[in-house]
Amino acid sequence: MADSAFDVLIVGAGPAGLLAAESLAVQGVSVAVIEKDRVPGKDKPCGGFLTHMGALQGKIPQNLAERQTFGISISMPGLPIHHVDYPNPVGIQITREALGRHLCQRASAAGAKILLQHQAIGCKRSDIKWRVTLKGNSKELHASLLIGADGVNSLVARETGLRTRFLSDQLGVTIQAQVTLPEDEITKRFGSRMELYYGREICPYGYLWIFPKRERVYVGVGSLLSVVTDRLQRYLTNFIEAHPRGKEQLAGGNIQLMERALVPLTYERQSVADGVLLVGDAAGHCSAITGEGIHYAIFAGIIAGAVAGNAIRKGDVSARFLRRYETQWNKAFGSDLKWGLRLRNFFFQGMASQNVSSGMASNQRFLQLAADLIVGIRPYRSTIIRAIPHYLWQRVKSSFSRS
Ligand SMILES: Cc1cc2nc3c(=O)[nH]c(=O)nc-3n(C[C@H](O)[C@H](O)[C@H](O)COP(=O)(O)OP(=O)(O)OC[C@H]3O[C@@H](n4cnc5c(N)ncnc54)[C@H](O)[C@@H]3O)c2cc1C
Repeated sequence: MADSAFDVLIVGAGPAGLLAAESLAVQGVSVAVIEKDRVPGKDKPCGGFLTHMGALQGKIPQNLAERQTFGISISMPGLPIHHVDYPNPVGIQITREALGRHLCQRASAAGAKILLQHQAIGCKRSDIKWRVTLKGNSKELHASLLIGADGVNSLVARETGLRTRFLSDQLGVTIQAQVTLPEDEITKRFGSRMELYYGREICPYGYLWIFPKRERVYVGVGSLLSVVTDRLQRYLTNFIEAHPRGKEQLAGGNIQLMERALVPLTYERQSVADGVLLVGDAAGHCSAITGEGIHYAIFAGIIAGAVAGNAIRKGDVSARFLRRYETQWNKAFGSDLKWGLRLRNFFFQGMASQNVSSGMASNQRFLQLAADLIVGIRPYRSTIIRAIPHYLWQRVKSSFSRS
């Protein structure tokens, strides 16, 4: 096979693309990953909290953890901060650069070709082969199967006609700062908990997070693109400079970096067409309620790699064959994506009345359920089923207080 021809081409060396590449290479399939950045993950804005659901896929060694997470502190408007601790770690705090280097090393050790500083600018299919063109490079790459692992603004999704850009009401917008502090100070202030803040004053239709790493904390805020765009920076600055607890927790820290980025907050059923499949953020594999997507990208990458390998061996890359991938990812985490979207609409878009929402926020058992969902130890559907009695009770209380 010539240097420029592969069985499978993957655009994007995020967790989704690199895990698909590793899986394909292990199966003996010739695969190349095209990545525009020099170091995968280094410039990717991300909170870097990885639930054990993802870490336990056996691909992420614990020594990648900058800090183990054993708990979460949740702040609701007008209420004292609520701490939920677990006997065992529920996840790890990582940097995307370390994750990128690790997954890259695994994929290339398995035999995948990783083409860094190569940006895909076009993909066309003719004679059942894909032709991918690269920026500033006259060479074209060819493959029978194309995997779009190129994130929220996926070129592959658009060029292959699988979908247009995500619409503004399908997107979240985030801004995150990295604040450096001495390691012992971070341990003293946060221990092994991460912190989440909710409320209109903090950021309407979204939330603020503090994820403590080894020698820096990530502080970010995210909401719906359709409602907040230009005010986001102000919410973050207000918190760092003026929020009573924010000021205290981040006192003396140096802001090193402020980054803005989009996240898909939607549920897209379709992720395959003839000769192409989408994985991770490109396919909308991200929780609409928390914005977490690394573990879904890991699952999706592994599933995509297995199905794509099979397709190459059988010589059948039709959409009909590739639909197995859709069926499998839907089975693995489709329910979380669907229910996450419903939950977001319910709470963040005001379908629950203010009284009911604040009643639930002050209920300890509801907060425990919310914490379990956020740290990934309880599936979304089961959380909702368990939360229904609390919700109904708050509605009854709220209607009595009105009458
Ligand atoms: C601020 C923020 C905080 C977040 N925090 C968390 C968190 O704490 N935990 C969590 O689980 N999730 C979090 N997420 C979501 C998480 O980052 C994504 O869901 C995850 O990175 C998706 O992985 P991926 O492999 O699909 O895509 P990505 O990680 O986005 O990787 C896509 C890759 O494709 C490359 N690429 C794009 N276009 C091209 C092109 N044309 N040619 C070549 N290469 C290309 C990019 O450079 C990139 O390396 C956060 C997101 C944001 C924005």
